[in-house]
Amino acid sequence: MSGSITFTMIKPDAVSAEHTGKIINDILEGGFNLKAMKYLRLTKEKAEAFYAVHKERPFFADLVAYMTSGPIVAAVLEKDNAVADFRTLIGATNPAEAAEGTIRKKYATSIEANAIHGSDSDENAAIEASFFFSSFERY
Ligand code: UDP
Ligand code: MG
Repeated sequence: MSGSITFTMIKPDAVSAEHTGKIINDILEGGFNLKAMKYLRLTKEKAEAFYAVHKERPFFADLVAYMTSGPIVAAVLEKDNAVADFRTLIGATNPAEAAEGTIRKKYATSIEANAIHGSDSDENAAIEASFFFSSFERY
């Protein structure tokens, strides 16, 4: 089956709390296929570049410090309507507002340490996938 792609990161709070296996299981049960996956720790430079769209926001410095505080799991996921369906699976940015059963509702601890990333558009999914995986470089 082929579909559109989205990009995700299991964030440092969820990796250090050993939620990685449960989150991957939720993703697979949600109908997503794994296309690429790796375990790594972001450098400050890479975290700043990934979140460059937020560089003027008051939470930017804290966000970069948090995202570099420990290892993450980065992955590319495939499904029909991948971007929107994955945002539904993970829930609202603030776990206090996330729907019951969503990954953020189950595993996030705060609006910052919210367990998981999901791309917000097809264009950003392609950019973010190519940021971590050479097999998703755009030509
Ligand atoms: N974030 C934060 N404080 C805020 C809003 C966002 O620390 O007030 C962090 C949080 O980790 C979030 C990330 O910055 O996931 C990117 O924010 P965005 O608005 O893009 O949320 P997302 O797309 O991840 O739901
Ligand atoms: Mg976002």
